[in-house]
Amino acid sequence: MEIVVQKFGGTSVADTEKLYNVCKHIIKEKKKNKKVVVIVSAQGDTTDNLIKQEKEITEVPNKREHDVLVAVGEQITAAKLVMSLNKQGYKAISYLGWQVPIITDSNFGDANIIQVKTKKVLKELEQDNIVVIAGFQGIDENNNITTLGRGGSDTTAIAMAAALKAEKCEIFTDVDGVYSADPNKSKNAIKYEKISYNKMLEMANNGAKVLHNKCVKLAQESKVKIVVKSTFKEESEGTIVE
Ligand code: ASP
Ligand code: MG
Repeated sequence: MEIVVQKFGGTSVADTEKLYNVCKHIIKEKKKNKKVVVIVSAQGDTTDNLIKQEKEITEVPNKREHDVLVAVGEQITAAKLVMSLNKQGYKAISYLGWQVPIITDSNFGDANIIQVKTKKVLKELEQDNIVVIAGFQGIDENNNITTLGRGGSDTTAIAMAAALKAEKCEIFTDVDGVYSADPNKSKNAIKYEKISYNKMLEMANNGAKVLHNKCVKLAQESKVKIVVKSTFKEESEGTIVE
């Protein structure tokens, strides 16, 4: 079974029209006879808005309940993306972190993935379903919902790709790859065709926002090939991190 993991960030899934655009990237892989697992972030500013709503109540929320609240955004995207795929004639099913399950420690708000159980996801793939998984969330040993820290859907994607031994993990974002500097701010920024995990880690630690640093470390340890590419360009080659 040739498995591809694709991750779509908040701007890529921000509204219904964008969800349809995301379907195009998924269907493209399906047409190559790949099994596709999709990890989604919350739509647009959803997570920020949830945190704003929390702050209306308290600046010092119970940590467990904070995670229950902020995990909601990804659930909405997962269901809507499955419906969008179904509408175009493709079989798909959503899974939340706990349903996979993605097991984490109990460090609420910044949990670490301990284990990903792949049995259910593999079964869905065998039945030719596209599996859409809510990013950024897991479950601890006491059945508490946990979240992986801001930007954590990248980590979900790499962990899933590692556990499923996927041939690659495509991270779709609003820039068409990894640049030497922020392409929106610097005209001299150059795009890398390929960079090493170490170089990527260095950049993530220096504040480059394209990939979460935890996820780069995990990819290096588990030798997952990452491709960072644009959601909004049809034929983006992107940047390979390996
Ligand atoms: N929705 C979460 C956040 O905004 C996780 C993610 O997008 O990766 O941080
Ligand atoms: Mg991100």
